[in-house]
Amino acid sequence: MIILDGKSIKNQILDNIRLEVIKLKDKPKLVVIQVGDDPASCVYVNQKKKMAEYVGYNFEHINLPESVSEDEVIKIIDKLNEENGVDGILVQMPLPNHLNSKIIQNRIIPSKDVDGLTDINTGKLVHNCASLISCTPKGIVDLLDAYKIEIRGKHAVIVGRSDLVGKPLVNLLLNRDATVSICHSKTKDLSTITKLADILIVAIGKKEFIDESMIKDKSIVIDVGINRVDNKLYGDVKFDTVSKKASYITPVPGGVGPMTIAELAKNVLCAYKINRQ
Ligand code: NAP
Repeated sequence: MIILDGKSIKNQILDNIRLEVIKLKDKPKLVVIQVGDDPASCVYVNQKKKMAEYVGYNFEHINLPESVSEDEVIKIIDKLNEENGVDGILVQMPLPNHLNSKIIQNRIIPSKDVDGLTDINTGKLVHNCASLISCTPKGIVDLLDAYKIEIRGKHAVIVGRSDLVGKPLVNLLLNRDATVSICHSKTKDLSTITKLADILIVAIGKKEFIDESMIKDKSIVIDVGINRVDNKLYGDVKFDTVSKKASYITPVPGGVGPMTIAELAKNVLCAYKINRQ
């Protein structure tokens, strides 16, 4: 069994980007908008700031009060859309209930949408012509590529159909000639399907939900889940037992999470090239 070490692949990606950024006269700029002070969001924003500082991007964190109105957020995004020195705009999710995340996300112009979540960029992904692709699904594919794992012709089973992970991943894997099945909470007899997977990707947010009885021998298991219990992180996959049956597996932490950050760094540079060169 081989552990898919997202952390070391992330470090290689960031080092390459850093070398490219050194040569740029004007530095790419990432702006992260956060509403409120949800502790998990603060951790994620901080990881993005650390990444930006490491590769040499300019970084701005706009932290708005929980009570901010949708109009105010939209005004801020409109201004950033117009600003020449801003390459990437990202709204940290989740937003408070009174704000419509779809409306807010779609306000970002597609060329600055470094999360790849606007309807335009999602649609382009369906047609296999997207430049800015949702970071977690892209990170999964890049991690498989980094380990030279063939995707073409494999049966990939995705558990979880969120707009953030499952749905974009379907298209990315289809574009790479995988046969794709996607499951969700209403799927009947889930383990019959997961046992068919050559590549099993789990993104449901339920601690150690997938055990060894639910996977095929020698399959490749990608665990997207991040579940914090008593200050410890757990994946959606029972690592100890599943790792004995799988051929490759991602750890939590240290697998998909770091790749998500690496893809954000890539997207900011890509947006810079679209917007300024
Ligand atoms: P989400 O929006 O809550 O979606 C969860 C999905 O899982 C839904 O499609 C849901 O089905 C499905 N599901 C829930 N229980 C299930 C069950 N018992 N059997 C089958 N499917 C089930 O979650 P998300 O945003 O995709 O995130 C999923 C997990 O990944 C979370 O732990 C999150 O923290 C983590 N995550 C990690 C990263 C990273 O960088 N590593 C990035 C994003 C997310 P329905 O649609 O039917 O409700």
